[in-house]
Amino acid sequence: MTLLERPRPQTKTGEWKRPHFFTTKKHPNEMKVYLTAGHTVINGKGTGVHSGTRDEAKEAAYLRDEIACYLERRNVTVIKDDVTTGFGRVMTWLNNTLTKSDTAIEIHFDASGSGGPNGCTAFVPINPTSHEEDLGRRLCKAIFEAAHIKPRGSNKGVRDEGFTFHKRLRFLHSPAVATNVLLEVCFITSDSDWNKYITNRDSIALMLSNSIYNHLKDRHNGKA
Ligand SMILES: [Zn+2]
Repeated sequence: MTLLERPRPQTKTGEWKRPHFFTTKKHPNEMKVYLTAGHTVINGKGTGVHSGTRDEAKEAAYLRDEIACYLERRNVTVIKDDVTTGFGRVMTWLNNTLTKSDTAIEIHFDASGSGGPNGCTAFVPINPTSHEEDLGRRLCKAIFEAAHIKPRGSNKGVRDEGFTFHKRLRFLHSPAVATNVLLEVCFITSDSDWNKYITNRDSIALMLSNSIYNHLKDRHNGKA
């Protein structure tokens, strides 16, 4: 007997009742984002930049979790890495998981040998897709609106990885099949940036979550 030949279940009044296995329960959301916190925390200490008591890896994980909370409240599925898992394993996991329709954001804080440089940057691959540019611009705009931390450069904070110290970022290459943006929230080495960041941390998380939500929503509707 095939599925089609199965007798249709009848209610008491004889009307046809939709069989259970056909129930199309709408997935609670169609929106999904991968949020990773750059670097690893080992025994309470981060492997990223340290500036005085500021610990890049721990702060990135904290902010990432705040953003995730806000997104989850709006029924966006957030897939996170475990902050104690090494970078190589996280990249392998992303490589094996991400597809073209996915969106992946990695959160970092920038650093400089001198305390001078400040601002936020959204790094995208060389020859970024329009989705990557759109998302990058929105992330930097959110940080500016929440904390007045300036988007760096002439393209609203969006820069390709050629601007980075290493000229190439693995996050933007290995899992490059998806929409990939690496966000440098602000300079951990700048007192001015850091004060703005700490004072406005909650609104930064909220505004970033809004910008991610709106990007995903507009893409879903074919507008971004
Ligand atoms: Zn970093």
